[in-house]
Amino acid sequence: MKFVADRMLGRLARWLRLLGYDTLGIGKQENEDDLLLELAGKERRILLSRDEILIRRALKNGTAAYRVRSSGIMEQLMELKKEFDIGFEPEMDRCSLCNSPIRRVKPAEMGLVREKDYVYPEMLESGTEFWICEACGQVYWQGKHWENIKERVEKLKEL
Ligand SMILES: [Zn+2]
Repeated sequence: MKFVADRMLGRLARWLRLLGYDTLGIGKQENEDDLLLELAGKERRILLSRDEILIRRALKNGTAAYRVRSSGIMEQLMELKKEFDIGFEPEMDRCSLCNSPIRRVKPAEMGLVREKDYVYPEMLESGTEFWICEACGQVYWQGKHWENIKERVEKLKEL
């Protein structure tokens, strides 16, 4: 199951990637709606939008699409659970910024991590494991942010 989300749903797109789902987003541009419809159709992605007109256009073309009703992120995720039965297992799998696959950083490549100003020296010394996005170079680790994500999805599972 793959998605493409409109710009209004950028946060939802990042969460879907964290949950391991291939989710494209596109930047602000002319003919944004046309591009979204084209991507959804060509790559067989489910179009996610809050725009009813866009969703109607997609469905008319035979493209899978879902109109997101809620504005809060947790509610949006619950909607997708009901509609598509998405799983709530966060994975170190996909870059939450650009949707490309991420992979573990090998010991010989620690230079790639060290050069990021958002990586604290303590983390480098404590044997923290790192992942890197091949496409945009973003570095990830399972820190407080990760714990927070896991806690939030655990709560969703109970609903
Ligand atoms: Zn990336």
